[in-house]
Amino acid sequence: MNHESPPRAWVETDVEAVAHNLRVARRLAGGALQMPIVKANAYGHGLEAVARRLDAEEGVAFFGVANVGEARRLMQAGVEAPPFILGPTFAAEREEIVRHNWGCVVSSLAEAEHFDRLAALSGRRFALHLALDTGMGREGFLPEQLGCVIPQLKQLHHLRIEGAMSHFSSADEDPAYTAEQIRLFGDCVRELGLHFELTYRHLGASAGLMGFRIPEANMTRPGIILYGVAPVPSPAAAELRTTLRLLSRVALVRDLPAGRSISYGRTYTTPVPTRVATLGIGYADGWPRHLSGRGAYVSIRGQRCPVLGRVTMDLLIVDATAATGVCEGDEAELIGPELPVQQVAEWAGGIPWEIFTGLGVRLPRIIKP
Ligand SMILES: *Cc1c(COP(=O)(O)O)cnc(C)c1O
Repeated sequence: MNHESPPRAWVETDVEAVAHNLRVARRLAGGALQMPIVKANAYGHGLEAVARRLDAEEGVAFFGVANVGEARRLMQAGVEAPPFILGPTFAAEREEIVRHNWGCVVSSLAEAEHFDRLAALSGRRFALHLALDTGMGREGFLPEQLGCVIPQLKQLHHLRIEGAMSHFSSADEDPAYTAEQIRLFGDCVRELGLHFELTYRHLGASAGLMGFRIPEANMTRPGIILYGVAPVPSPAAAELRTTLRLLSRVALVRDLPAGRSISYGRTYTTPVPTRVATLGIGYADGWPRHLSGRGAYVSIRGQRCPVLGRVTMDLLIVDATAATGVCEGDEAELIGPELPVQQVAEWAGGIPWEIFTGLGVRLPRIIKP
């Protein structure tokens, strides 16, 4: 890190806390294999640092990523467990995927045939997973297609179908629909198992693994739970540790008299004389503009400092009257132990996933020592 000035805002990632949360997830899943999900820069935490740390944990079979760019970064970081590209692949990416033996899924015969041709050209067999659409509607073969597709897949001699995956659409809100997805997944896995050796069978993300037993699965794909958020109520929620702090610095402290309006659109006017702090963070860093006028606060010197007026691109204005002795350079916590990401998401009318993955690229990621 070679900043000319101290960073105005940054993310501090606790990779040990992520590893702890992975162990909690693994225990909840009954010791199943794990595909920790590190897509979107490990939910904003910093892809390389998180994956390198989790690579040392037991039971990690793959790292779930969104695209080949993230797969390359894992490879360049020397991470041993292979990346697994969760979504559909583009034709132009597949040669590279085959060359490096990255994990991926197919949802159609056309994709499988393309992988088979590429594997033939490279002179080896390529292992992939079949995606099954048990009710998410995003990717995968429909269960009723399998009867027709299986014989055709068996003709693709340069492929090895080593896994089957599906994804829940409503594991956090609709147990009956989720149970139906589990049943369909079981049926598909049993049918596929007659023809292929399915080493990996995976269905549950965080909500699924916390809320359901999935007998036919032997791997889970924990995402948000690794980053300290329980997406469904669970006694295990209390065991999860906070993994990320979003911090900024006070750039300026001013004493304003009553009757001064603050920020764009003049949505706030000081009712009384107010000590106002301007922080070096804004919506360009991923602290949503929607937090304006929603009762949001930040924490300075352990005190709640309400956000005043609209969040601007690079700066945020707070009432720091309660933070006795506040001065320029003080740290302000915007996400962390004193300000759970769930709270920030609620203010913003969003979800924790959105807040984490929206953290801006200009925030340096610093690993907590
Ligand atoms: C993102 C994703 C996950 C992780 O989801 P969480 O809810 O964050 O645990 C798992 N599986 C797939 C296919 C995903 O796209």
